[in-house]
Amino acid sequence: MKLKQYELHSVHLPLPHPIGDSQVRFVDHRGTILELETDTGLRGVGLQVQQGMPTAALKELKEQFEFQTWPALLGANPFSVANRIERPRGGNVGASPFGLVVETALWDLMSKHLDLPLYRLLGGTRTRVRAYGSTLDFHLTDDEFRAKLIRFREQGFKAMKIKVGHPDVAWDLARMSIARQEMGPEPDLMIDANEAWSPKEALLRLHRYRDEGFEIYWMEDPIDRHDLDGYRMLCSEIPFTRINTGEYLGFSGKRRLLEAAAVDVLNVHTSISESRTAARLAGDYGIPVSLGNTPLETGVHAAVSFPECLYMEFSDLMWNVLAREPIRFEDGYAIAPDRTGHGLELDREALAHYSVPG
Ligand SMILES: [Mg+2]
Repeated sequence: MKLKQYELHSVHLPLPHPIGDSQVRFVDHRGTILELETDTGLRGVGLQVQQGMPTAALKELKEQFEFQTWPALLGANPFSVANRIERPRGGNVGASPFGLVVETALWDLMSKHLDLPLYRLLGGTRTRVRAYGSTLDFHLTDDEFRAKLIRFREQGFKAMKIKVGHPDVAWDLARMSIARQEMGPEPDLMIDANEAWSPKEALLRLHRYRDEGFEIYWMEDPIDRHDLDGYRMLCSEIPFTRINTGEYLGFSGKRRLLEAAAVDVLNVHTSISESRTAARLAGDYGIPVSLGNTPLETGVHAAVSFPECLYMEFSDLMWNVLAREPIRFEDGYAIAPDRTGHGLELDREALAHYSVPG
């Protein structure tokens, strides 16, 4: 089996509501889709999303791909490319904007070649993992926020994550109160401050939320991603909730968190290969992982294969319009599809509709 040709698409997905957090606000997704085809007639698909950021026009994307990426793929066996371990230091080499789309398409191809669902190629024996509804609500009105919570509840989600980190602590408390009204007292509530605070401010806020009666399942990214001392302090000083971080760090950063005892739940996402390695290392430290958003929810395959994944995130984002059969969520679980590959075939009509010409 050899890689024979490729097709690139550039898509623009306007969002029905702005999404974001205490630091950022987005009104659309721009994405790159790669289809890789083998000489045996198999087709693998990968999607990568640039949050709100304008993407190069399709013509320039293709020029970059031809220059930087395709020469190493043309004629190669997908297994020998995907299983290659590269030296972490590359000297004066720019990062590839195609890393994720290539990797996802290769995993899709490998599992299709073996006639297996991807989660089984990854060693998964379960088909479902607990999932939470993630509201990305910082820029929504209270009514819009409430509507999202109700929608997740009606979809069967038993856990939800909301945004905090407003300069006015009363705003955070009011939003947690709305969340509890809609979720009820039992389901797990997670909060995400997206690095809004100093370590001391994080301590003060967490104690305040606790004093106001809010039980929090995990606190995500309270402080700057590189503040290992701050994270270590929070993990040891806060006995009543878990500290979830790592979303903004690559593998080396995640390793440093684990080495420094500076994380209670390691956030892994995006690259299947990297998240597997990080989950393996976290397991060695006895630390569970959670899986953040992945384009088209392809990460469900990795999540069900991890030995200890507390939850997978679901934000109900626009990218699922591109899939003929999106990943299903039922009774608070994400279900890994039993189709071969990652199981996400492109909806050609939707792809044509959202493609950016040229
Ligand atoms: Mg987050």
